[in-house]
Amino acid sequence: MFEFFSIEQYHAQLQEGSITCLQAVEHYLQRIKTTRHLNAFIEVYADEALQKAKQLDQKRKGGEPLRKLHGVVIGLKDVICYKDHKVSASSNILKNFTSLYSATAVERLLAEEVIIIGNCNCDEFAMGSTNENSSYGRVLNALDETRVPGGSSGGSAVAVQAGLCMISLGSDTGGSVRQPAGFCGITGFKPTYGRISRYGLIAYASSFEQIGILGNNIHDIALVLEVMAGSDEYDSTVSQKEVPQYSSQPAVNKKYRFAYFDQALNHPSLDPEIAAAIKKRIEQLIKEGHEVKAVEFELLDYLVPAYYVLTTAEASSNLSRYDAVKYGYRSPEPNLELMELYKQSRSTGFGKEVKRRIMLGTFVLSTGYYDAYFTRAQKVRKLLTDKTQLIFNDFDFIILPTSPTTAMKAGEKKSDPTRIYLADIYTVWANLVGIPAVSLPLFKHSNGMPFGLQVMATRFDELSLLQVSGMLLSHS
Ligand code: GLN
Repeated sequence: MFEFFSIEQYHAQLQEGSITCLQAVEHYLQRIKTTRHLNAFIEVYADEALQKAKQLDQKRKGGEPLRKLHGVVIGLKDVICYKDHKVSASSNILKNFTSLYSATAVERLLAEEVIIIGNCNCDEFAMGSTNENSSYGRVLNALDETRVPGGSSGGSAVAVQAGLCMISLGSDTGGSVRQPAGFCGITGFKPTYGRISRYGLIAYASSFEQIGILGNNIHDIALVLEVMAGSDEYDSTVSQKEVPQYSSQPAVNKKYRFAYFDQALNHPSLDPEIAAAIKKRIEQLIKEGHEVKAVEFELLDYLVPAYYVLTTAEASSNLSRYDAVKYGYRSPEPNLELMELYKQSRSTGFGKEVKRRIMLGTFVLSTGYYDAYFTRAQKVRKLLTDKTQLIFNDFDFIILPTSPTTAMKAGEKKSDPTRIYLADIYTVWANLVGIPAVSLPLFKHSNGMPFGLQVMATRFDELSLLQVSGMLLSHS
């Protein structure tokens, strides 16, 4: 029976010949079949994955050294392009659209010999926190099927949680990698804005999002990150900074400085058990000799409003390209005038949440309201960025809960979008400022569900963030 623990161990098994890539792929295909009802995958590339596994097994026999991600079985969120494979952002408006090229991140993974096993379900255009806004239906949390897996990368999270692949990619615009990781009991990593190319990532809010990684151990995440990161001529927002070899610099036994916020840990929306667990962990860190201090932070309640004003504004612009003319869904009604064709197609092609956000975004950008909403939200973003910089002058990391609650019951908050938005309180910070952040699966609630500790570092300090994650996970 194949069992996956880490890429390192898998590679050792491949080298000694106790396992093959083919056996690994067969194992995952079998598991995907028996857990079909979780709805984590939209499409499974069974034949292709088997074929690729055979090729890699053959190649190994020839004695060639293994590439970094040789035979690693991976799932892609349905917002990441993979040439000649369908990509739809879980939306009817892109149903049956086929990628014309692969995302830069995907190209780089393929060059290191990954096996892509399928594309994962998500909230439509990555807008949501429960994976209930998908045209392919909801995804079930494998730990409690009556609960949501989180979102918007819910399918990617469950694919790792339920052992349907070794690692998966999501996208994180306001928490979509960290929050589902927290809800599913796995690790979710969002890099600095500009660390990984967004070329080939379907855009929701371009100044916020990054491809993120969901996995079961931090070393695997470090490895995948170093493969995908780095400059790219197709995305001018990617940093030219050199990419450290994250995976070859393991955790160090070092005393760190952590900042936390009483306002965050005593927030009325926070589940008291989550607050208590994090406070206890803070005490433990102090006992271990780290410096952990409370910092004043009065901006907390402005983060979600600023995030939703700015991201919906960007979404209204990004999603204007779906006009039913160039590509994607077109209303089947005959003889429509051009304006009617746009209206009909967009009204029936987009789901409810996406339309709500396009309208909100159009509103906050409209003459007369622009300064009251968009400009003010930008000021909050700037203030927050400055404040965050000041904190990192004195501290190595900021710690926060990942989410105020554990995974909700399916359908629980569907009729109240504002309540769902407010639950993004702890995750949107990292996207507003562009800093790297991780959710670590350190805790379990008395209701049986896991929850995460979120750690944020200063811009482009992924290395320290990965190292401290290693330390926190090993001391848990
Ligand atoms: N829940 C947030 C939203 O709905 C985050 C989404 C994301 O990160 N893609 O916008």
